Amino acid sequence: ATPAATMVGTSIGANNGVVFKGGDVLERVRDVDAVVFDKTGTLTEGEMSLTDVVAIERAPDGGRLRDDDGSASGGEPEAGPDAEAEVLRLAAAAERNSEHPLGRAVVAGAEARGIDVPEATDFENVPGQGVRATVEGATVLVGNRRLLDDAGIDTAPAEEELRRLESEGKTAMLVGRIPRDAPDGAGSDAGAVVGVVADADTVKPTAADAVRDLRERGLDVHLLTGDNERTARAVADEVGIDPDNVRAEVLPDDKAAVIESIQAEGTAAMMVGDGVNDAPALATASVGTALGSGTDVAIEAADVTLMRDDPTDVVKAIRISAGTLSKIK
Ligand code: ADP
Ligand code: MG
Repeated sequence: ATPAATMVGTSIGANNGVVFKGGDVLERVRDVDAVVFDKTGTLTEGEMSLTDVVAIERAPDGGRLRDDDGSASGGEPEAGPDAEAEVLRLAAAAERNSEHPLGRAVVAGAEARGIDVPEATDFENVPGQGVRATVEGATVLVGNRRLLDDAGIDTAPAEEELRRLESEGKTAMLVGRIPRDAPDGAGSDAGAVVGVVADADTVKPTAADAVRDLRERGLDVHLLTGDNERTARAVADEVGIDPDNVRAEVLPDDKAAVIESIQAEGTAAMMVGDGVNDAPALATASVGTALGSGTDVAIEAADVTLMRDDPTDVVKAIRISAGTLSKIK
């Protein structure tokens, strides 16, 4: 672009909440063939709220909800309101220090239900998987199947509940507990899944319009998320993204590799995301587009920032670049 075109495009963009960084960005935006959207916080509001708490009954010789020591509570019912409150209490304790919207919604949900959330120590965030922390001497894990699998916890007892919640488009998280002094390896005293908690998010009102406009312009639209397949498909269906273009359960470090594979055959992709976990993909894409409310890391890695967090501003960015470059040579 000539300096004049760059100046005009950049200033029209700025007036429309679209910040173009650097001189050659306009050309690259004009030339994209595919747009890849992150799900949470990008196509959805990213404002989660807790919707479900389910206690999983322990298998006859499986793990147990409480230790038989000081924190024990013999005769505790294994399902019902008390068991559910206990699941939420543990989950909220583990998520107490989490900055992830999923974790914050769990803590807020527990507080709203009047649950006294205990302190936790040894908090650890496992990106793209969940959290773990020590609560009352036990290790509590909250996250996806992978997180619990890696800790040697059998997730099968919760599978039916997980699927039910996921097919409703909710993000369901397993709550696992490994008692103090658990021996290594599986066994009756090893960890067990004690429950499932679910958060729901709402799709942004303009997300479907953005997808429709992009497809009408001949662009290929994809969804890329760390969330599970069922939830991802439910959202894709709602906004009009082809199920074949859904890439779910992608770890943060693998998002960039997915962009590379989309670009492998000469396709120029624009990645649109908001999170720390999107930064490598934003940097890898021909155009990285961050939301203004996104994390600083995402904004720094991006070429374009959408100040209004509106998915239809992706279309606006493409229109502005195409328009100014064709008019001002
Ligand atoms: P996205 O790509 O949709 O922004 P993330 O990569 O941040 O999602 O997370 C992927 C998955 O990891 C979530 O859907 C959830 O199952 C799990 N997860 C991540 N952080 C947490 C957390 N703090 N608590 C529970 N689960 C989590
Ligand atoms: Mg996100």
